[in-house]
Amino acid sequence: MSDSRRPPEVDRVAASRRAVAARRERASLKRDVATRVISPQELLRRALADPQSPAGAMRVTEFLTALPAIGEGKRDRILADLEISPVKRLGGLGARQRLALAEFLDGRWPEPRPRDGRSRLVVLAGPTAVGKGTVAAHIKDHHPEILLSVSATTRAPRPGEVEGEHYFFVDDAEFDRLVADGALLEHATVHNRHRYGTPKAPIEAALAEGRTVLLEIDLQGARQVRAAAPDANLVFLLPPSWDELVQRLVGRGTEDAEERARRLKTARVELASQGEFDHHVVNDDIARAAAEVAALAR
Ligand code: 5GP
Repeated sequence: MSDSRRPPEVDRVAASRRAVAARRERASLKRDVATRVISPQELLRRALADPQSPAGAMRVTEFLTALPAIGEGKRDRILADLEISPVKRLGGLGARQRLALAEFLDGRWPEPRPRDGRSRLVVLAGPTAVGKGTVAAHIKDHHPEILLSVSATTRAPRPGEVEGEHYFFVDDAEFDRLVADGALLEHATVHNRHRYGTPKAPIEAALAEGRTVLLEIDLQGARQVRAAAPDANLVFLLPPSWDELVQRLVGRGTEDAEERARRLKTARVELASQGEFDHHVVNDDIARAAAEVAALAR
């Protein structure tokens, strides 16, 4: 190659940097699918919408092995069945191949469909550190027509927390009494430590007045509400990506390494439960996510 045709050094450095960044973005997307932060169908949609994007540049082989329970043997059989060459990238699939892959994914991992016509009792749940509390607080501040339920808890108040506004702080004996009296709609021990429960009476009164009630509770609580009130509206708050969730958990800096690892493991389990929910809202921006939840509640 003559000097005039060789790419200048700076271009090659830039190109190699871009390649590293692209590989990193593909790895991050694969983690999103593996942890179910996004569905395989969503990744395929992003790939087809923009073949130049990290999703579009992903090889179909990489994509399939990122999916839960697909190893290399199964991957090769699937590709043969779907008549897709292993060298293909997602963004470069032909029309017939796209359809075949989408049908395969729908059959194997059906996407949850939003269920409408449910009650005004709205439960907001989601994995640890996703920002449920912040979204709920935003709704409380901007949508006074929605009642944010105040839970009872056996944990001590944190600085700035107000009795009856953030929680009803009770001791173990008082919590036992609430349970025995049937005064709680649901209750659970959260993070293996303290007990939390939703007082039933204020909720029933608000619903009777035609108001919407929002509960910000953990997954165990959401399941109990589903059992007690089958038409409750269950909303699952999702992080924009798995890496972002890890970032939020680490960034909080309130837990040590062991506790963080335990919470990340819990977050994976929690993400795997999202199929039980009626609606899925991505917490990419607090105000936007809060508006979406509030709109569901109406
Ligand atoms: P925190 O102690 O940080 O305020 O809350 C810890 C966790 O308890 C959060 O995940 C929150 O969703 C959950 N939680 C708060 N109130 C209730 C409740 O009444 N019932 C249940 N099941 N979980 C709750």
